[in-house]
Amino acid sequence: MTTVVDHLFELIRLPSVSSLSNRPVIEYAEKVLHDKGWSTRKFTYQDSSGEEKINLVAAPPNQNVTDRDVDLAFFCHTDTVPFAVDWTNAIDPFVEGEKLRGCGACDVKGFLACLLAAADQIEPELFVGGLRLILTADEEIGCIGASHLIAAEAVRPKRIMIGEPTSLHVARAGKGYCLAKVTVLGKEAHSAHPNMGASAIFAAARLISAIEEFGKELAKELHNFFDPGFTTINVGTIHGGTAKNIVPGECEFIVEWRPIPGQSADKVLNRIHEIIDGLKLPDSGIDYRVTSLRTQSGFETQENSPLVRAIEEFTGRPAVSIPFGSEASLLSAIADEVVVIGPGDMRSAHSNREFVPIPELDLAASLVKKLMCRG
Ligand SMILES: [Zn+2]
Repeated sequence: MTTVVDHLFELIRLPSVSSLSNRPVIEYAEKVLHDKGWSTRKFTYQDSSGEEKINLVAAPPNQNVTDRDVDLAFFCHTDTVPFAVDWTNAIDPFVEGEKLRGCGACDVKGFLACLLAAADQIEPELFVGGLRLILTADEEIGCIGASHLIAAEAVRPKRIMIGEPTSLHVARAGKGYCLAKVTVLGKEAHSAHPNMGASAIFAAARLISAIEEFGKELAKELHNFFDPGFTTINVGTIHGGTAKNIVPGECEFIVEWRPIPGQSADKVLNRIHEIIDGLKLPDSGIDYRVTSLRTQSGFETQENSPLVRAIEEFTGRPAVSIPFGSEASLLSAIADEVVVIGPGDMRSAHSNREFVPIPELDLAASLVKKLMCRG
């Protein structure tokens, strides 16, 4: 029998950085599943660089993989973030004490190994009805695989469990993730004659100050399951101007906000448009362009949901909220209940410190087995 650790070693050895095709990981999973009588459906697309990407939907023996309406789906992404060239053990995993180290160990091949070990070890007649295992591509670059799957209406589960490292705390709520690019256009002039031009940087500064003020207003709308318990706003980058003695003709900045569940993901974007309308003056020579780059709302499953309660009871760990983005934002649109859980801690992920504690990996595999089995 292949153990969860064996599966994880094999999976880490298959590089699956988002820029590469995820076919090797999908083929590995398919082999494990087909050997146990599971049926699979592949949903393939080409990414923006022309690489083949595959989302996989799998159903246990005696369940029809083309049935869309199901009860419980496990989602797991197959890609990892890029790793530095000097991380020599990135795809050469090893065990150190109780830690299994390697790229993807906790984000999120550890959970994938749990799913495959469970599928491998459960007798065919024991699976619960309406069960699906779904592997996605391109999560790390904006949940692109999951969006394709939703657009294809491949599956409509009542309940979804998404693998991400939460130290096996069931995460039942998460903030959304939104981004917009704001370009302020002015008019260049010699800085000795500023009245001949219109400074895009001064105009951008006024707009950014107003956005910061709006952030204080947003902080009054509280959701106490989070820390900080409100929608945060960040202007993360700004570029503008060409020289110290030129009135700048252009300034561009990126606004990012993380909306609490229940708040419209567009709220900040709409306010930015209102602020701009208030700042616009006729004949000022200043113009504004706002491009929405991402709008993912938050998600929340109620604390008394039977799925949340069952997981809390099994792990002995209380439910939490997650501060990082995940496929939950998208998938909460197609399911009644969404939770995120997995072995390992996101604070070690996306770095050469990445590891998964083996006892947590084993506990996660038992949890998945329990949820996949009748009785
Ligand atoms: Zn992840």
